[in-house]
Amino acid sequence: MDLINLTIKGALDLLAKGEITAKELTQNLCALNEKLTSLNIYITPTFEHALQMADASDKRRQKGQVGLLEGIPLGIKDLFCTKGFVTTAGSHILKNFIPTYESTVTDQLWKAGAVMMGKLNMDEFAMGSSNMTSYYGPVENPWKRKQDSHTKLVPGGSSGGSSAAVAASMALGATGTDTGGSIRQPAAFTGIVGAKPTYGRCSRWGIVAFASSLDQAGPMARTVYDAALMLKAMAGYDEKDSTSAKINVPDFTGVIGQSIKGLKIGIPEQYRTKGMANEIEQLWQQGIQWLEKAGAIVKPVSLPYTQYALPVYYIIAPAEASSNLARYDGVRYGLRVPAESLDAMYELTRAAGFGREVKRRIFIGTYVLSAGYYDAYYLKAQKVRNLIRQDFVNVFKEVDALLTPTTPTPAFGIGEKMVDPIAMYLNDIFTVPVNLAGLPALSIPAGLSNDGLPLGLQIISRSFDEEMMFRLGYVLEREANFNAKPDLSIYLKG
Ligand code: GLN
Repeated sequence: MDLINLTIKGALDLLAKGEITAKELTQNLCALNEKLTSLNIYITPTFEHALQMADASDKRRQKGQVGLLEGIPLGIKDLFCTKGFVTTAGSHILKNFIPTYESTVTDQLWKAGAVMMGKLNMDEFAMGSSNMTSYYGPVENPWKRKQDSHTKLVPGGSSGGSSAAVAASMALGATGTDTGGSIRQPAAFTGIVGAKPTYGRCSRWGIVAFASSLDQAGPMARTVYDAALMLKAMAGYDEKDSTSAKINVPDFTGVIGQSIKGLKIGIPEQYRTKGMANEIEQLWQQGIQWLEKAGAIVKPVSLPYTQYALPVYYIIAPAEASSNLARYDGVRYGLRVPAESLDAMYELTRAAGFGREVKRRIFIGTYVLSAGYYDAYYLKAQKVRNLIRQDFVNVFKEVDALLTPTTPTPAFGIGEKMVDPIAMYLNDIFTVPVNLAGLPALSIPAGLSNDGLPLGLQIISRSFDEEMMFRLGYVLEREANFNAKPDLSIYLKG
């Protein structure tokens, strides 16, 4: 069976026709996974459990009980709590943490019949854009630069295990979370589809918190259809999360293939950043032409406060992180470094348990929240966040969606940008504003860079109008016809 090209939709068809069982599918994927361990994609593979789940799925199918994702093997970002299975959030401090509960999103996936392949590597506490901050080591992007098989590339982050797993065909889909771009940027770096839903669309219950007002779970998959299908299973109101939205979850796949004739698409002029690479500009122009060809009306729009998005994000996200991470004190969760006094135990535990990037965010967050600086930084950032949000409200009076590149560059080398945190933060320039405004956005693989690496285009739509982003995203997918694949033969040898 050609696992390399198998989509969720394709697998569901084969399962429905009885041409394959969930167990066979899972076995095949486990075998492939065993050969690709050098990519360091899983922190905790759960293959034995996967086979049991697949077996149970086959039995349900025989009885005519067929869920939305019946028998589909998925990878789970290690930020989602999974009952009975270690959940590390990519951190040393949670190395031995075994949750006694299941996150709402994963619970819904299992109820829809999906199979858990394992817990995927990620940046520590989802802080990063490269998967380099994981305590469990970097993930290698299965893609290589043209004529350069030596340089190992990052798969993006923080959902780097998720993107690499889907790109390397180690799972048919994966969950991700997106606080400032962590679904869309890794999707763009690995040539897959990543959907960040509206804030409140998916429950955050049981997902290790990074920045609570920005965090959202979403699907990462090979096609727009697959992502739409996964989101249907993941989304919905949850009384355990007070910020989850009491709003109907439509069949997101229903809009796929619908005409986009007459829809108005905005091109935010402020996203044409200084020094933007030519290949990114060209991709963007290509995207405009594809949408116009399909009958959309494309026009320039202005989001004047865009320039403040990154500084605002790097005040608000660390502020919320410093407060969320206060709970890791060696008392209730994970690592404890014993000491003579309670204070010393806190200090030693946190010093040993958190990595550099997490500590940097805790320092920044604590600083901007401290008396004397709160008004100058945190409160000011909240006000500017409102202006950024208002920018989007204004343009969505004129247009139905926005088209932008997903990232300013293709995947970079493992280790690059690590000495300069600002250079790393700049990689999220096109994704961060969406989180500040709570909007849904989709990254679609749209072309290859001059180096032969995947590049993504991003569709941003109105609050709770994920249907619009999927509808437009499908048109881009169809027109781009992106069927390049990473060359897995390098890893499969031997
Ligand atoms: N790269 C951004 C950061 O480091 C976003 C991370 C995310 O979306 N989780 O904060």
